Amino acid sequence: MSFRREVVVRIDGGGDAAGIARRLADALVELNIVVDRRGPDLPYEPGPAAATVLEPGVQWADHEDNGVKIHTEPSMYHSFSNWARPNCDRCGARVGTDAVKAAFDTWLGATEPALSCQECGWSAPIGNWPAPWPFAFGAPAVAFENWPPLDPQFLGEVREALGGRTRVIRTFL
Ligand SMILES: [Zn+2]
Repeated sequence: MSFRREVVVRIDGGGDAAGIARRLADALVELNIVVDRRGPDLPYEPGPAAATVLEPGVQWADHEDNGVKIHTEPSMYHSFSNWARPNCDRCGARVGTDAVKAAFDTWLGATEPALSCQECGWSAPIGNWPAPWPFAFGAPAVAFENWPPLDPQFLGEVREALGGRTRVIRTFL
């Protein structure tokens, strides 16, 4: 069985995570993108308007595990088999495996590390490195589980609702 997840996560540690999560959940329910939760810890189910937030041309596919989870406790999100090491924004060099692993461990301790390019010395917080398939730590986070690919414009609106700096993590298992 395959598993697919798109997560939008706030990575700058700012904002009132619980309040932001609650307002976002209310908005998604209001827009009929999800219907109210089935019970504690269970995801919100897709609503009648779920298909309107998909990538253009993508059809909705019902799946018994379709759902949206909204997390308020900081957590690490990883692309797993999608993951690739990031490339330097200045010279394009791929960062070393050990450096990425060290950065991952530091971030897991809730401090976003800076990562430096071994080739040209460019340095930036890891959350600012261009990476189509990254990992990221933070809260709040909105996880669309087993949904078809989301419309980039909708993802942009979710990122705006979370505020601060955000990352989108796409996981396929
Ligand atoms: Zn570089």
